[in-house]
Amino acid sequence: MANRKKKYTTSTASPLTAQEKISRYMRGNKSKDTQPELLLRGALWQAGLRGYRVHWKSAPGKPDVCYPGRKLAIFLHGCFWHRCPHCQPALPKSNISFWAEKFDRNVARDQQHRERLRAAGWQVLIIWACQLQKDLPGCVRTIKGLHQGVPDSYWLEAA
Ligand SMILES: [Zn+2]
Repeated sequence: MANRKKKYTTSTASPLTAQEKISRYMRGNKSKDTQPELLLRGALWQAGLRGYRVHWKSAPGKPDVCYPGRKLAIFLHGCFWHRCPHCQPALPKSNISFWAEKFDRNVARDQQHRERLRAAGWQVLIIWACQLQKDLPGCVRTIKGLHQGVPDSYWLEAA
């Protein structure tokens, strides 16, 4: 049987649509030990920045990673849930007001945590998941600088 027509094409994989990405984010919404957190903690460990606490209850907002002795708190924000200003992830297309409210709450809560930490004399660093993905060594360098006592640097602006 020569010349038989191929019934199936092999390359059916298409890039994820924005909505598919959103459902993935939602499925993956676990607050603890996410893959980016494990990645960051592994890199900090390797860089010799040990002695961190994870989701430490005694610090306002239970930062994802913190160094109590240095009063350095690090939040690793998922771009979708915390509304990343860098990559600006797509918004869900249905239940718009529900999502808008939810995102507003998340963002407001993040800000409260930062303010409470700063009021208590902590340095606060926000790392966005997309920054971590793009430049893990750069994130580690920034943390190292803060850990060594660079004052008043609250934001990481990765390239
Ligand atoms: Zn982002």
